[in-house]
Amino acid sequence: MKLKKILSVILVVSMLFSMASCTANTEQKPENNNDIDTVFTPGTYEGEAEGFHGIIKAKVTVSETEITDITVEHTETAGLGDKAIDKIVLQIKENTSLDAPIVSGATYSSNGIIAAITAALKEAGADIDALKAKTIADNNKTEDVEKTADVIVIGGGGAGLAAAVSAHQNGASVMVIEKMPQVGGNTIISGAAYNAADQGRQSLLPMTDLEKQTVEDLIDAEQSDSEVKEWQETLKKEWEEYLDSGKTHLFDSPTLHKLQTYNGGDKLGDTKLVSILADNSLPAVEWLEDLGMKFTDHVFTVLGGLWSRAHKPEKPLGTGYIETYMDYIDKNSSEIELMLETKANSFIVENGAVTGVNAESNGAKVTLHANKGVVLASGGFGANVEMREQYNTLWPSLKDIKTTNHTGATGDGITMSQELNASIVGMEQIQLLPMGDPVTGSLSGNIEQGVQNRIFVNKEGNRFVDEGARRDVMTKALMEQTDSSMWVILDKHSYPTSDTKNNFNESIDSLVEAGRAFKADTLEELAKQIGVDADNLVKAVETFNETVDGKTKDAFGRTLFADKIDTAPFYAGARVPTVHHTMGGVEINENSQVLDVNGQIIKGLYAAGEVTGGIHGSNRLGGNALADITVFGRIAGESAALGK
Ligand code: ADP
Repeated sequence: MKLKKILSVILVVSMLFSMASCTANTEQKPENNNDIDTVFTPGTYEGEAEGFHGIIKAKVTVSETEITDITVEHTETAGLGDKAIDKIVLQIKENTSLDAPIVSGATYSSNGIIAAITAALKEAGADIDALKAKTIADNNKTEDVEKTADVIVIGGGGAGLAAAVSAHQNGASVMVIEKMPQVGGNTIISGAAYNAADQGRQSLLPMTDLEKQTVEDLIDAEQSDSEVKEWQETLKKEWEEYLDSGKTHLFDSPTLHKLQTYNGGDKLGDTKLVSILADNSLPAVEWLEDLGMKFTDHVFTVLGGLWSRAHKPEKPLGTGYIETYMDYIDKNSSEIELMLETKANSFIVENGAVTGVNAESNGAKVTLHANKGVVLASGGFGANVEMREQYNTLWPSLKDIKTTNHTGATGDGITMSQELNASIVGMEQIQLLPMGDPVTGSLSGNIEQGVQNRIFVNKEGNRFVDEGARRDVMTKALMEQTDSSMWVILDKHSYPTSDTKNNFNESIDSLVEAGRAFKADTLEELAKQIGVDADNLVKAVETFNETVDGKTKDAFGRTLFADKIDTAPFYAGARVPTVHHTMGGVEINENSQVLDVNGQIIKGLYAAGEVTGGIHGSNRLGGNALADITVFGRIAGESAALGK
């Protein structure tokens, strides 16, 4: 005991000396000094800090001079935040340095893990400045490379990976390049809802009178496009068959999906593409299932989705899609190569056809030749503020609005295609959601569990919109409220237990604990916690409940209802407008071939996903993006492999 005390006194004294000398030396020595003797008090120390999805906890074990072990507890996004954490932990541990660079696209997770380890090291008595000044060598420098594959895919998000798998299934060797250090793009951090008319799963849901009315209104609505009129005729027949059958479950069909998609985009979408999307979305679900992807049996109405046809993956966020594709790619790695941190800059064009891609990786030149075709799947430009400002004509300035997008959504593919004279359509159509986290703009922390069981109230505690409406309608209404801010209000129906999780794998209790959601036994108490007028909130909920009971018509024209909000505990979560999806992009035909400004096919170039334009018109239905990227990713991969 005595010896231990003496030893620790010696250690502390020597530590003080060396810390003092470090501090003194830092001033004289050049900034990046790797010769500093970092001294710790041996032991295991804990530190924690805020990540993207909550608290990151680090347990750091140190000897006198080295970090010997780091274990971490966190709930960061699988495939993205967790990859960043692993990379940073390894660098910090191997180098006993805090100079680990932030992983691109995972800034919050990177900062969180560095801060958590820093906190633990402070407890260990470390000189933090000295550890930060100790540089980690960049071992990433690569040589120039030149490679050839049948199909080159630009972008490793949902559309690109679907295209890669599909191209391979159609006999091609494939090279996928992804500019970020990890695959996934916006897909992996999305809510992941996937729309497909699926009468099997929908047989579990009732059909309300208001929903019946919606179908009949769609059949009778005035339409001018001849193809859309045909859809109405088909829907009429399908509807009559359904009524004759005496079924009572929720009706749906690809035709209803088409009409809602087309009308929901103000009739601006390309009818051919809308048709392909709706007709192929269920077959693409089955294709994903054949690849090993699992969806729950329950379909729901996602925000702005207008109908209960959203399929929910069993795995959180978009991780299920990306893992499914990556499993396939891993199993076929001799024929599908993936190059991370490899950014496409331009197309190689020979005799008027696209035959490859000029790219770069860590400063090295990467030249890729395609025997058959190039698939552009580089996503949208939601994270590119300059491009948003350049094209936005429909919203007030979007300069200061945050985004749900990952940092790589910068519209590179659109700019690259313009150099080829590609037709670019609908660029002004930028989708905002009323569902951004007030701090980060991300979708995480969103407490809604589907459209039917929650209301929105403004800072005064009043409802202000049909919460089942289109996304643009809800966001415009939100922008007119005080501070463009609202509360999502719901009850136990959405969270039967306190550890029930939202779509982002966050339990309601963890959100409450982190101050990102509020919980109370009465609406009055909830109103007090969130600072809204209690009388207004109680009245808003009471009126809503009367409408659920069918006693009154909804003042905002809402048609989607399930349960009343009447069972404690009650919950509230704050939300603000956020940039979500860019509907504009390169124009494609039914084979996903890119068209030029004269409507001619650009040989060798295919595109799929958010980089394309023209499908969703002025407003994309919630749940249609995953269907779009899967359906057209699959088509683009097949077309490129078969040289269509
Ligand atoms: P989609 O839903 O259309 O698949 P995502 O955002 O999910 O769109 O994926 C697009 C992917 O393309 C992202 O991972 C992004 O980092 C990647 N990407 C964007 N620009 C480039 C580029 N110039 N080179 C390589 N990859 C890119």
